[in-house]
Amino acid sequence: METVADYFGSLVFNDKMMREYLPKETYKDLKETIKEGKDLDSNIANVVAHAMKEWALSKGATHYTHWFQPMTGITAEKHESFIVPGKDGLGLMEFSGKELIKGEPDASSFPSGGLRATFEARGYTAWDPSSYAFIKEHTLCIPTAFCSYSGEVLDKKTPLLRSMEAISEQAVRILHLFGKTEVKRVVTTVGPEQEYFLLDKSLYLKRRDLINTGRTLLGARPPKGQELEDHYFGSLKPRVAAFMKELDEELWKLGILAKTEHNEVAPSQHELAPIFTTSNIATDHNQLTMEMMRKVADKHGLVCLLHEKPYAGVNGSGKHNNWSISTDTGLNLLEPGDSPKDNEQFLLFLVAIIAAVDDYQDLLRVSVASAGNDHRLGANEAPPAIVSIFLGDELTEILDSIANGTVSANKARQSMLLGVHVLPHFPKDTTDRNRTSPFAFTGNKFEFRMLGSSFSVSGPNIVLNTIIADKLCLFADKLEASKNFAVDLAILVKETYQMHRRIVFNGNNYSNEWLEEASRRGLLNLKSTVDALPTFIAQKNIDVCKKFKVFSSTEMHSRYEIVMENYSKTINIEALTMVDMVRRQILPEISRFTGDLAKSALDKHAVVPSLTLSYEKDLITCLSNLQDSLSVHVAELEKLVVEAKMIGDVTESARFYHAQIIPAMSNVRAVCDETELLVGEDYWPMPTYEQLLFSV
Ligand code: ADP
Ligand code: MG
Repeated sequence: METVADYFGSLVFNDKMMREYLPKETYKDLKETIKEGKDLDSNIANVVAHAMKEWALSKGATHYTHWFQPMTGITAEKHESFIVPGKDGLGLMEFSGKELIKGEPDASSFPSGGLRATFEARGYTAWDPSSYAFIKEHTLCIPTAFCSYSGEVLDKKTPLLRSMEAISEQAVRILHLFGKTEVKRVVTTVGPEQEYFLLDKSLYLKRRDLINTGRTLLGARPPKGQELEDHYFGSLKPRVAAFMKELDEELWKLGILAKTEHNEVAPSQHELAPIFTTSNIATDHNQLTMEMMRKVADKHGLVCLLHEKPYAGVNGSGKHNNWSISTDTGLNLLEPGDSPKDNEQFLLFLVAIIAAVDDYQDLLRVSVASAGNDHRLGANEAPPAIVSIFLGDELTEILDSIANGTVSANKARQSMLLGVHVLPHFPKDTTDRNRTSPFAFTGNKFEFRMLGSSFSVSGPNIVLNTIIADKLCLFADKLEASKNFAVDLAILVKETYQMHRRIVFNGNNYSNEWLEEASRRGLLNLKSTVDALPTFIAQKNIDVCKKFKVFSSTEMHSRYEIVMENYSKTINIEALTMVDMVRRQILPEISRFTGDLAKSALDKHAVVPSLTLSYEKDLITCLSNLQDSLSVHVAELEKLVVEAKMIGDVTESARFYHAQIIPAMSNVRAVCDETELLVGEDYWPMPTYEQLLFSV
């Protein structure tokens, strides 16, 4: 029988395959190029291209594509076959170094946020040798970066790679000050936990809202939701188990270390977590994971919903970005060790992160802003829109005592006693769990929990890497110039924590007290995408991205426009879908139902003239009133949509959608959901929440 080890990574041109298919010299050169982040020599490229092609052909591939991550949020590919004309009308399979290194997809159909207007439409994709090529549907996929003719980045990968360079450079400076001169590079690592919903495909196809927008725009509360909490970690239904099994297998073939799969809180909601890897590979892998989830679900007659809020009234879906930083010598820099209070290097990195998160709350908030995620953040299930850090009791006590100049009790790590002899005793984590914190220290990593489920993890990690690089740079500047390292280091840790301790909060982030407390502390509360986004192009944020060459000012403005525009477009599609569903599906069915009621009342009256017929009369009256109200609200929504379309400025437009269209949609929904509970089941023109949530 074939074991997992036999096929794990079988569709990846990984290190093992490189060694097998490449001449020794080329392999060495390539590895060096990757390790040191150097430019690639064209001779090497030719040899690598040939080897890749031979390997891909042996796996049955016929095509290749540069696989890239434009600003659409999904991945893009343009397939070319390997075929070239040979002699005597025969076809040959060829692939050159040039084709490996560079591609030229037409950039004009991808979002560029104004860059298109000023620059040529031509775009280039360039091979990223630090991420392995892989095979998907008979196509060799080559991970690439995507930029415009004049070099502006148009994708999510290039700035991520730049931010990884930035943090590496600054962290190495710090480590050298601590005597770790053997460290040449530092990498950031990410393990994204991915939430999603499954739904029966036949039901999905009956909901225009799900098809057009990925979420339900209408739908009355089901009799049963998630209140019994009987789904979380519950046993898997056979159909879901079969889906997960195949998903694991497909991901393993692609070298993705899918590890944990379990049910989530809401009915039909699940989670998948891989084992962490370097940020850029984790980003590629998470994009592939989301794509595979959709494909495998389809094969099982299911649909995978990655929207942040497919259903009102039950939890939405997020993504937890577990983030850490480690050296090329294998040291996790966020590992506190046995005695964190004496671990000065750890404390320095820790306060760098605390300072970065405090000074750049706004950038972190923007990195998770979207129309979909607005339904979650601050809505009592995901973390609030206020950014704060959970450190746990032990670390907070250590930093507090440093800041206050008191002595911290040198507590030995406690052992967990479960009170049952047969259960193992394991050392207690430095931190307890706090599920409500947006940014929590969890032992030897931080978990950034504000991401929406459909997000690329690229954006949030670009921000994390860049802002922490900024603080490390500041620290390195100070300490490199210091005449007394030990003293100045202690002062730096102390003063940094004193200055930024307001960002640390270990309590319940969902409570109203925290809202008040946070505002007293002067923390930002950027409630929606339109509130948050303008801070992206605040001067201090442009400065930090420019300083570390992650984004130019032009690139930031273009990204600002793309996200704002995307917000308006999303709400516009939702509003139009809602108008159509109500006008063309729901209002006519209400008439049919009340008409039938009226007919039956007349029939009954013909038989027994003395009947009061109050059931029919009351229901007809009530439904007719609701129907009128629904029709008025829909007309109002439609009028506003037309108005919105006439606003030229992207920011003004987004503000209008937020302030006018969203409330108008809520009005329609409220009346519609009330109506749904009164209309006969056979008349309702689409599957109900009860059916959608419990279909699998
Ligand atoms: P929980 O659900 O309790 O938050 P999980 O075990 O489901 O935790 O997920 C933890 C995630 O954190 C996994 O993807 C894991 O690989 C990742 N992780 C662990 N260590 C690191 C690290 N050093 N850097 C980045 N991610 C990490
Ligand atoms: Mg988690």
